[in-house]
Amino acid sequence: MMDFKLTDEQELFVAGVRELMERENWEAYFAKCDEAHEYPIKWVKELAELGVDTMLLPEEHGGMDASWVTLAAIWEELGRCGAPTYVLYQLPGFSTILKYGSQEQIDKIFAFRGTGKQMWNSAITEPGAGSDVGSLKTTYTKKDGKVYLNGQKCFITSSAHTPYIVVMARDSQSEKPIFTEWFVDMSKPGIKLTPLDKLGLRMDSCCEIVFDNVELEEKDVFGEYGNGFNRVKEEFDAERFLVACTNYGIAYCAFEDAAKYANQRVQFGETIGRTQLIQEKFAHMAMRLNAMKYMVYSTAWKMDQGLNVTGESAMCKFYCANNAFAVVDDAIQVLGGIGVTGHRVSRFWRDLRVDRLSGGSDEMQILTLGRAILKQYR
Ligand SMILES: Cc1cc2nc3c(=O)[nH]c(=O)nc-3n(C[C@H](O)[C@H](O)[C@H](O)COP(=O)(O)OP(=O)(O)OC[C@H]3O[C@@H](n4cnc5c(N)ncnc54)[C@H](O)[C@@H]3O)c2cc1C
Repeated sequence: MMDFKLTDEQELFVAGVRELMERENWEAYFAKCDEAHEYPIKWVKELAELGVDTMLLPEEHGGMDASWVTLAAIWEELGRCGAPTYVLYQLPGFSTILKYGSQEQIDKIFAFRGTGKQMWNSAITEPGAGSDVGSLKTTYTKKDGKVYLNGQKCFITSSAHTPYIVVMARDSQSEKPIFTEWFVDMSKPGIKLTPLDKLGLRMDSCCEIVFDNVELEEKDVFGEYGNGFNRVKEEFDAERFLVACTNYGIAYCAFEDAAKYANQRVQFGETIGRTQLIQEKFAHMAMRLNAMKYMVYSTAWKMDQGLNVTGESAMCKFYCANNAFAVVDDAIQVLGGIGVTGHRVSRFWRDLRVDRLSGGSDEMQILTLGRAILKQYR
């Protein structure tokens, strides 16, 4: 039976996060980071000190063995306080490295525990291979005991600062398409990064990367040879779920900002919240929030049971990105002029527009969900 009631331990964790958010004026810091396109290291470091960075890791590896429901509750609270939880998408990366990485790769990434620093991300997308990832052209070539990487990736999140990138490439010496991932140290010669200017999600970087005959060792393989796409499928499900948690959280924040304002802003001799046109907006916002909350928590619960959530995570991402956008848009309308002149809801609106493309477009979520549903009835 699904039960989303938080345990005392989970409540305590959420309360710790709330306290951190109330301790200082984080909004001023976030606004500054967003304007400067800077990663909010000070905030992420404080979260890491609470153990948020390694919460999903098993206890024997220094983690909390926390559930996805716990993560959803933490994300909800952070989002509700206006925090950019999208910069935390890399956190499941500790578990991924533990599952697929060699001991050397694990040691390199685990050195980042508690620091809040950006560590790694995966690079799949290319200028000619967006939604159609299987058409990617980056190659690896084995020669004299070494491996050479050649090609171009684009829209790679966090890559301006991550010391490592896991790159998906095609075997140039095979007729059949064989895709393998490589754990690349970004300080190697032959790598050129070009940062891109983004509409939203500006506290994280996004770059184009060129790999020009980058020399790797065979030991730099990530996971198993030829298993690249099977490995990332799992990552896609978790990533889409996290995007949905982020979307729901900031929609909640915008909703509360707007509700407080509607009850205090007076026009025509009464608060605007007393007018039916404004009340209607809150009714619709509340319905969207309620549906998002249920979707996020029920998916988290299924992930905790070890069930496949490919359809659910696509549903969550599509639904939450679009409905959070609608909630934030309504919140801006309620806030009137101040909603578009430096208020945090403007930032949320820009961020949400990007989320309908990054991590797989709206259209790809619909296709994934449709396939997953019909598979159950075959
Ligand atoms: C901010 C940002 C961060 C990102 N981070 C990363 C990252 O870290 N790593 C990484 O590998 N990638 C990353 N991406 C890439 C992202 O996953 C792709 O942008 C996305 O998958 C879409 O690819 P595209 O932009 O080339 O669009 P295209 O695939 O060219 O699509 C253009 C439009 O056509 C639609 N379309 C395409 N094919 C179909 C079809 N068959 N049916 C219907 N509609 C279709 C799409 O939905 C979209 O609306 C990021 C992207 C962004 C914007």
